[in-house]
Formats: sequence, structure tokens, C-alpha cells
Amino acid sequence: MRKLNLILLGAPGAGKGTQAELIAEKFGIPTISTGAMIREEIASGSELGETVKSYTNNGQLVPDSVVIDIIKNRLAKDDCANGFILDGFPRTVPQAEALDEMGVEITDVLSIEVADEAIMERMGGRRVCKKCGATFHTKYKPSPAGEYCPCGEKLTIRADDDPEVVKSRLVIYHEQTEPLKEFYQKKGLLKIVYGQEKLEDTTALTMAAL
Ligand SMILES: [Zn+2]
Repeated sequence: MRKLNLILLGAPGAGKGTQAELIAEKFGIPTISTGAMIREEIASGSELGETVKSYTNNGQLVPDSVVIDIIKNRLAKDDCANGFILDGFPRTVPQAEALDEMGVEITDVLSIEVADEAIMERMGGRRVCKKCGATFHTKYKPSPAGEYCPCGEKLTIRADDDPEVVKSRLVIYHEQTEPLKEFYQKKGLLKIVYGQEKLEDTTALTMAAL
């Protein structure tokens, strides 16, 4: 199988995480989530981890150059020999430029596209049970007990799924992250997959694009 150094793009709720898992499995490569890595680096107590901590402890954003150092360390590990999936970075054109400057080679950029209205419907319908952890969707996977979980608890909407929160994350995505499509288009790396109603249909398109 060819080497796949992939950046996955997609609005929150577009189904990026699920596709990342399936690609990782098929290609035998790791998904590199910057959020998780930053937490690991801090937990490891390394010098870099201490640097990161000094920012997060003061409520500051970790600078791009530091995040890229962490990514470069991670990419140097053996399990990345056949490739990797970058999820959650870069989010802006300056971050993509910094990745280039630091010599991180990218072979493919895949953007999973879903209309905002469809994302709003998907996320707005999610319900969770705080007691047993069960998840439902008012349209796609309704609870047999209506607004309640079969365990008896009233279902709730997670803070992340609140329509106002989703809307503002979509605005940020369109403003900051979507310009990356043009950036990678110019390099001839961009592939677009239109998210389908059925997961297996989206997956088939994703695999065909890679
Ligand atoms: Zn429950």
C-alpha cells in the first residue's frame, strides 16, 4: 500500500472522526489528534510538555510553532513509517504554511463536505443519557421511551450539540479553516468527498478518493 500522509478537513459534525478511524484501519496508520497529543506531552513531563504547560496554565493558546514541534516528534515514531492522518491540524492557512516550512510532507488532503443545514439537523437531534451514557437521535435513532432513556433518566443535549454552539463553530470553520481548501488545491493535493446520508456511502466515496 502506498504511503498516505493525510490531512482530513471537515466541519464539526461532518463525520470526520468516523472516516479517520476507517482510513486508519484500512491503511494501518495512526490518527494524530493534536488535542490528545498535547495532553500526552504534558502528562509525559518532557521539556516540551513543560513548555506547553506554561501556556495552558496561563490560559493562553499553545503557539503554532510549539504544536508543530509536538507533531514532528510524533511523526518521527515507527508507527508513522507508512503514513498518518492529521486530524484537527492545520486549522488555518498560517498553520499549513508553518507545517510546510518545517518540512512535514503531505501526500493527500481530503475534505468531507456536508451542508450546514444537514450538520445542524444531525447535531441538533442528538440526545444523551447522563446516567447510563446511552446516545440517541430524535430522527435517526429515537429512544423507545421518547424524551426519556429506557433506563428511566430524562435525556439531555450535550453542550457541544447546542444549536448556537454548533452554529458558531461552523462560522469559525468557514472563516478560518475552509481557506485551506484553496491552499491545498493549488498544490494539487485536495480531494473532496460529499458526505452522504448513509455512513457506508460516505465511506465508499472516501476510499475511492484515496
Ligand atoms: Zn440511560
